[in-house]
Amino acid sequence: MENFKKIQMPTPLVEMDGDEMTRIIWKMIKDILLKPYIDLNTEYYDLGLENREATKDQVTIDSANATKKYGVAVKCATITPNADRVKEYNLTEMWKSPNGTIRAILDGTVFRAPILVKGITPYIPRWTKPITIARHAYGDVYKNVEMQVGAGCKAELVVTHPDGTEERETILDFKTPGIIQGLHNIDKSIESFARACMNYALDRKQDLWFATKDTISKKYDHRFKDIFAEIYENEYKERFEAAGIEYFYTLIDDAVARVVRSEGGYIWACKNYDGDVMSDMVATAYGSLSMMTSVLVSPEGVYEYEAAHGTVQRHYYKYLKGEPTSTNPVATIFAWSGALRKRGELDHVPELCSFADKLEQATINTITDGVMSGDLAALCTIPNKRTVGTEDFMAAIGEHLEALL
Ligand code: NAP
Ligand code: MG
Repeated sequence: MENFKKIQMPTPLVEMDGDEMTRIIWKMIKDILLKPYIDLNTEYYDLGLENREATKDQVTIDSANATKKYGVAVKCATITPNADRVKEYNLTEMWKSPNGTIRAILDGTVFRAPILVKGITPYIPRWTKPITIARHAYGDVYKNVEMQVGAGCKAELVVTHPDGTEERETILDFKTPGIIQGLHNIDKSIESFARACMNYALDRKQDLWFATKDTISKKYDHRFKDIFAEIYENEYKERFEAAGIEYFYTLIDDAVARVVRSEGGYIWACKNYDGDVMSDMVATAYGSLSMMTSVLVSPEGVYEYEAAHGTVQRHYYKYLKGEPTSTNPVATIFAWSGALRKRGELDHVPELCSFADKLEQATINTITDGVMSGDLAALCTIPNKRTVGTEDFMAAIGEHLEALL
C-alpha cells in the first residue's frame, strides 16, 4: 500500500453532501472506498438541511452554478422540508426541494436506471438489461389549471394574441355538471428535453425510445413528436448512425407493450405524467428503489449523479439510538462511480474511469458472494446469502475493491 500512487484528479468534482442516513453512508464511501485510492479533488457544498438554513439556501444555488462551471457533480440525498421538518430543524422557511432548484438552474432531465445483479431477479425476468427512464420534468398536468363546471355552463379555450384578438374553441356545453382542465407546455422545454435524451443516448450508446398519444392529441402530443423528430433529423441523426444506435418513436400504448416484451437495454423518454407513473413501475419491477441510480443531464451536457432514494430517515433514527442498521449504499456508491468515470472521460484520466469500473464491480461481487443489506436479502435468491449491517457491508465492499486493485 505504501508505494501505491493515488489517482490524481486535475479538475474538481462538485460534491453535494446531504442528510440523515445517506450523509453517514456518504462519509463512509469517501473514507473506505475512495480516499485510500484517489487524491479526491472535490469542491464541497454542504446541502445538509442545517447548512441550507444557515445560508438561506444559497448553498444549493452555489452548488448548481459550480456544476455548470465544472460539468460534473455527485449529490447525496437531501431532505425536502415539510411541516414536520420545519419543526424538527427549527427552520425559518420551508426551503424548496434542492433537486428542484438544481434542476431549474441546469434545465436538466433526470435519467433513472436500475443496477442489475445476478441473483436479484426482476419481477419481469426477461429484463436482463437496464431500462433507463427519462422523464420530462416540466408542464402538462403538473402545471394545470382546472375547474368544476355546473350544468348549463359553456366551457371554452380562449387564447388572447399580443394584438388583443382572441382565438376560441368550445370545450363543451355542459348539460349536466362536470370538470375541465387546461394544460400547457413550452417548445423550448420540449427541445431541451429532446436534446438531453439524445445526448444521453449517445453517451450510453443505447437506443432512445419516445412515445406519446399523438393519434388522439393531434396538436398537443403531436407537437412533442414533431419537435423530437426535427431535432433528431437536424442535429443527431448522423451521430446516432455513427454510434450504431437508433431513435425510435411509437404510440405510448405500443411502447408499453414493447417494453414488457423487451430485454431492456435502452432509454425510454417519457412525457411528464408517463414518466411519473412508469418510473415507479419500472423501479418496482427491477426490485428495489435502493438499487436505482439517477443522473440529471442538462442540454449542454452537464451531469449530476445521485441515488434515486431518499435519506432513509427511519434507519437514521435507529442509527442515532445506537441500534444496528442495514442500509444499502449501492445506489450512492454508483452515483460516485458515475461521477468519477465522467470526470475521467472529460479530463482524459483513464485510471479514474477504470477505478470507477472496479468500484462498481467490487460492489456487485460483494452481493453475488452473498453479503448484502436486508432490503437485498429479501429479494435475493442466492442460497448462502448473509444479511449484514451498514458498516460490515461497506467493509466487505472495501475488501473486494482492494482485491480488484
Ligand atoms: P426513502 O429515504 O427513500 O426511504 C423509504 C424507505 O425505503 C426506507 O424507510 C427503507 O425501507 C427503504 N429504503 C430506501 N432507501 C434504502 C436504502 N438505501 N437501503 C435500505 N432501505 C432503503 O424515502 P422517505 O423515507 O420517504 O424520505 C426520507 C427523506 O428523503 C425525506 O425527507 C425526503 O424529502 C427525502 N428524499 C430525498 C430525495 C433526494 O434527495 N433525491 C428523494 C426522495 C426523498 P425500510 O424502512 O422498510 O427499511
Ligand atoms: Mg411517482
